[in-house]
Amino acid sequence: MISNYVDLHSHSTASDGTFAPAEVVRIAQRSGLSALALTDHDTIGGIAEASAEAARVGIDFLPGIEISCEYPHPGTMHLLGYGIDPNSPVLQKLTAGLVAARDDRNPRIIRKLNELGVAITMEELEQQAAGGVVGRPHIAAILVRKGYVNSIKAAFDKYLGTTGSAYFDKERLTPRQAFDLLRQSGGVPVLAHPVQLRTTNDGELERVIKDLKDLGLLGIEVIHSDHDAALVEKYTKLADRMGLLKTGGSDFHGTNKKDISLGTANGRKVPRAFYEALIDRVASLRKAG
Ligand code: AMP
Ligand code: ZN
Ligand code: FE
Ligand code: FE
Repeated sequence: MISNYVDLHSHSTASDGTFAPAEVVRIAQRSGLSALALTDHDTIGGIAEASAEAARVGIDFLPGIEISCEYPHPGTMHLLGYGIDPNSPVLQKLTAGLVAARDDRNPRIIRKLNELGVAITMEELEQQAAGGVVGRPHIAAILVRKGYVNSIKAAFDKYLGTTGSAYFDKERLTPRQAFDLLRQSGGVPVLAHPVQLRTTNDGELERVIKDLKDLGLLGIEVIHSDHDAALVEKYTKLADRMGLLKTGGSDFHGTNKKDISLGTANGRKVPRAFYEALIDRVASLRKAG
């Protein structure tokens, strides 16, 4: 019998997760999931490996990406793109640009940390990222290993988060640019973890989502590790009312987020029906070309 559960938000060593793409797929299979989407930050570098492994172990695989967009502080806006064509030249150009923006930021963070008396080098960071797209969790992992802080979270609080002493933002796409690029590469745009928008009331949340819908938003991630029962209910009602797809995932990062297991988001599992509706939409977009 086909399992009723899936995970539509996960990270591998292609970005800031700690397991290789094929390993994430094997963990999904061992966890009894019937489908997985890999959604690395700003890259499709893990898609080919994960896709091949999913075929081998016999689970469904959906290529994905997670793009950080410009959004007013203190919120963050991440856009998930599902069913993207990994061979799309537009997408390849986009990801190269996003990686360049990170290449610009990383040495600044390292320099600032050095000024603060932390011994860390770009070489160590490159080694930590092991060829994947560098993210702050890689820096955090080094700070933990060297004993400057005792957890990834503490590394963000003290140094790397928006109020940390070595914080630098990266250049981001505007939401419009991100939607345009996803449209051109066949991706279904879904708003990741809406709680992180940090809207202060329901009216504001609705206005933001309405604006995103006008730009091409097709879904909302209702189940996520940062969402409690009340938020899941709120986002589910909102998605239903606005005619948006519902998606869900754990946001698995391996040991970079120790308390998150693949397939479980704050105690909740993601129904396969979410995956089915999503791939239907991917297919209809493809047909519309
Ligand atoms: P970056 O893409 O380099 O900006 O880093 C983003 C990554 O850092 C995402 O995986 C976030 O989940 C993670 N992150 C952001 N803030 C925190 C925090 N306070 N504690 C732990 N991880 C965080
Ligand atoms: Zn991440
Ligand atoms: Fe995210
Ligand atoms: Fe994520």
